[in-house]
Amino acid sequence: MRTSIRTQHFPESIIREMTRIALDVGAINLSQGYPDFAAPQVLKDAATQAILDDWNQYSVTWGLKPLRDAIADHYRRRYGMEVNPDTEVVVCCGATECMIAAMLGVVNPGDEVIFFEPYYESYIPNCFITQSTPRFVSLRPSADGRWEFDPDELRRAFNERTKVIIVNSPHNPTGKVFTREELQLIADLCIEHDVIAVTDEIYEFITYDGAQHIPIATLPGMAERTITISGMSKTFSVTGWRLGYAVAPEDLMIGVRKAHDFMSVCAATPLQIAGVTMMALGDDYYLRLRQDYAQRRALALEMLREVGFKPVVPQGAYYIMADFSAISDEDDITFGLRMARDIGVACVPGSPFFSRPELSRSIVRFAFCKKQETLEQARERLQKLKRS
Ligand code: GLN
Repeated sequence: MRTSIRTQHFPESIIREMTRIALDVGAINLSQGYPDFAAPQVLKDAATQAILDDWNQYSVTWGLKPLRDAIADHYRRRYGMEVNPDTEVVVCCGATECMIAAMLGVVNPGDEVIFFEPYYESYIPNCFITQSTPRFVSLRPSADGRWEFDPDELRRAFNERTKVIIVNSPHNPTGKVFTREELQLIADLCIEHDVIAVTDEIYEFITYDGAQHIPIATLPGMAERTITISGMSKTFSVTGWRLGYAVAPEDLMIGVRKAHDFMSVCAATPLQIAGVTMMALGDDYYLRLRQDYAQRRALALEMLREVGFKPVVPQGAYYIMADFSAISDEDDITFGLRMARDIGVACVPGSPFFSRPELSRSIVRFAFCKKQETLEQARERLQKLKRS
């Protein structure tokens, strides 16, 4: 084989594969998590204007200074975090690049990286790239429909080889929003074992039923050992603009910035200009975002329940994990493909989110970041499941 051993071990992205299948067969795409509605007009205007103003060249690799200032200001205002925009911020091509840059910046071959399972699929290739070993801690739905982990299992995952724990909250794919108590336990273990938290907070502003997003960096003793990652994609419905950012103490940020510099040089300059406008949007924008998503979630849950799925209600993000064993005894891949081809609705089979296929045999993930009419159409098509 002429490809590298490293990439031979990469899984194919099943999430993106499902989008390709949805396009091929004309299915409504509730697989890959991207909105099908417009971004706010002010952002489109800002980006267009930046292009007209000839912002055509590379920006400083760490991100345009006004954008880094706006990001630092945002962390101060929203979470009381003190972040130095000159030394502790980097802007990357999406939170996904931030995550791999963070891993390359701090992980050595042979280190262990803990994360919760189910997990977002890119954490696995990130371990291959950094030649580190993943350690999984299971999230399981409890009787009252919340995703929980066993504190002892988490404690057992920490050892002298542990370098990083990835803390993804609100969590993809489950929608779990980690509570202060859960984060405190993670923080205590990080401090005890001298472990770095690399976070994925890309859904930080999409939460439901009063669930509060808490950056783990705000817990005592954590600011100095946390790389906090977020971005514009989900908050401003611009997943294709590829704008993400990370903040971390300077000694960690040095590694993250170097990795980013040699991977992508910089994020798209005119879009970074528009990013300054994004960061300036007021509280009413965030309130509206939450309200709109609460409506989409309600509709999606109803649509799934009425045809026999058993969804676990998410507290954040815009995905629903649903058990389909009452509808079909197929495995998740067979069922997912049939849904796309015959029913005309694409979702993501559970497998890419789990290390062991038996855990996801009857689970699929639906993304509900869609227009009301898209969800209504999907609902219509799903009725066929009752007859199939
Ligand atoms: N974050 C999005 C999702 O989970 C997009 C992922 C992707 O393209 N792999 O669906």
